[in-house]
Amino acid sequence: MSVVVRTRSAVTPLRRSITALPVRRPTVDEVVAVNRPEEPVHCLRPSVLAATARAFIGAFPGEVLYAVKCNPDPAVLRALAAGGVMHFDCASLAEIRLVRDMFPDAAIHFMHPVKARGAIREAWARLGVRDFVVDSAAELAKLRAEIAATGVPGSLGVVVRIALPRGDARLDLSGKFGAPLQEAVALLRDARRDSAMLGVSFHVGSQCLDPLAWRDALALTGQVIRAAGVAIDVVDVGGGFPVNYPDQQAPPLGAFFAEIQEGFDALGLPRARLWAEPGRALVAAGASVVVQVQARRGDTLFVNDGVYGALSDAGTLGFRYPVRLIRPEGAASATLRAFSFYGPTCDSADVMRGPFPLPEDVAEGDWIEVGQLGAYGACLRTAFNGFDRARIVEVEDVGLATVPKSLVA
Ligand SMILES: *Cc1c(COP(=O)(O)O)cnc(C)c1O
Repeated sequence: MSVVVRTRSAVTPLRRSITALPVRRPTVDEVVAVNRPEEPVHCLRPSVLAATARAFIGAFPGEVLYAVKCNPDPAVLRALAAGGVMHFDCASLAEIRLVRDMFPDAAIHFMHPVKARGAIREAWARLGVRDFVVDSAAELAKLRAEIAATGVPGSLGVVVRIALPRGDARLDLSGKFGAPLQEAVALLRDARRDSAMLGVSFHVGSQCLDPLAWRDALALTGQVIRAAGVAIDVVDVGGGFPVNYPDQQAPPLGAFFAEIQEGFDALGLPRARLWAEPGRALVAAGASVVVQVQARRGDTLFVNDGVYGALSDAGTLGFRYPVRLIRPEGAASATLRAFSFYGPTCDSADVMRGPFPLPEDVAEGDWIEVGQLGAYGACLRTAFNGFDRARIVEVEDVGLATVPKSLVA
């Protein structure tokens, strides 16, 4: 008897459509005025995405791998590729398949330290992946066994991810992955035996505002490399590069790259290359979500997207995104007031405290553009309570990447 297993994604795909304007892309205001959307609208900005990628790649002294998990929308991947991204940091088979389908010649790096055996085999034998991250001897053994089992020859690349002490990035990633120093040393020596490419990586945590975090991590990397005493081909400084939010002013990327260059030079590895794996910094400014106000109760607005949708990080993590009122038929008050949001589900945890500064006369029926949502927005949506309908549209305006100081409460 055969068993048919069907898989279904958690959310329905975002529906593309709304006005198809072939001549030029609309602005967000035009999308709202024409469609008066009662469902959230994801507004993608391909020109901003491409320009951001171009600027990052132009300034970073090494290769730039886009961390696909941050926003895997095909339109986003296409825009980043147009901006020069040719390397992709993938963490799952689904991400690898998507990238391979879209870009047959792209370099795909499997950067999850804990992989399913079948995923390793398929990535190696059918999807052309050669570089894999490990952070334990067991994972390295798994990798070797599964690659050997495929019988497909190739040059293996191994990147050893080292653990960092807890830093003060907005999102700490130090607890889950990374080999402690002694283990990292042993792993490097072991992996050197059969790796055509050997690298060391770390991740300082996401939205890390302090350039010195990279200097410290590179110093630690140097200790590991010296103790291992083996040749190193790649030093991968991970992701974590920050963007501006209303309450978080990020230093310019150049400040981070200068620390990285200096820390890398101090390692004395003239033949090694630098890699980075940015997610947020490449895509945050590339999308907004337009929500509609369905009710106002005092200073709380009930809106049609929330923490089970694209506004996940505005919930538990308390992220404050830039916001702007859209009212096609008239002017709103010039006086701003601080509001919090409730999302559409029946869960009282579906709350976003903000505060979000909006005109004091905001009312039911108004729309709000929530900016800087290209990173960790759409990809975190769920179908909880049936609120998984959203539209996606490509727009041409520059968005809310930076907010005037006067709007910061
Ligand atoms: C999530 C992740 C990234 C991207 O992090 P950002 O903070 O979005 O830049 C890069 N590398 C790895 C291994 C990750 O898990």
